[in-house]
Amino acid sequence: MGSVPELPDVEAYRRFFGTHATGRTVRGVWADPTIVRNTTPIALARALKGRRFAEPERLGKWLIAWTDGPALLLHFGMTGDLVWSGQEPERHRHDRLVLELNGGEELRYRNMRKLGGVWLAHDADEVGRVLGPLGPDALDLTRRRFLELLARRRGGVKAALMDQTLLAGVGNLIADEALWQARIHPRRRVETLTEDERARLHAAVRTVIRESIRHHGRIPLKRTWLLSVRGRPDATCPRCGTPLSRTEAGGRTTYFCPSCQPLE
Ligand SMILES: [Zn+2]
Repeated sequence: MGSVPELPDVEAYRRFFGTHATGRTVRGVWADPTIVRNTTPIALARALKGRRFAEPERLGKWLIAWTDGPALLLHFGMTGDLVWSGQEPERHRHDRLVLELNGGEELRYRNMRKLGGVWLAHDADEVGRVLGPLGPDALDLTRRRFLELLARRRGGVKAALMDQTLLAGVGNLIADEALWQARIHPRRRVETLTEDERARLHAAVRTVIRESIRHHGRIPLKRTWLLSVRGRPDATCPRCGTPLSRTEAGGRTTYFCPSCQPLE
């Protein structure tokens, strides 16, 4: 699906997984041992074979594919993707996990750079241990909950947005877009944000994620959005025409408009 998977991409993978696998039985499993994180390909195959997939879940950037027994957990890292054999019959050398389903079709997890991976969890507790401490999912976060989370937080606002233990699912691109839409400098400190700014930020995060999900997981390159020009040489702000600035915030390369998003 293109760029680094963020929440909307993983939501699209969740739907894709559900469309092709929900209600179907696993006939066979092949896995690249370098992508299987907490078990072996043989144990993974033994655990999943004969099991039927339920409707998959998502938390932040994690896909949780429950069966009528254990769950398969997928993280897409930087280059992960899902492929259905009905659309792409031939296997590819970057297919790291192949789920052969009844009917003979295959759902494949492809990942060129092998960041992320696949995990096996036998129950909800084990799912929790694999996922680690995660904040509430950014998709369904109410304004009230968002304000509560920010109220306990100090330090840079972009770092806060991208901290998965505070809020699950916001990555670098969503953070930049939301901060730009809310007219907040990415290095502002959370404790200095006004009530109005916090409310704007919540609305912007929600808009960016929902619009992206509506575009099948791809962040839409709307001309009125920062992401339509972000990273291009000589990019200017789609709102005011000021040349964009580049900085580091939250440990990541960050683009913003120095005129719409002043630090003071
Ligand atoms: Zn601007």
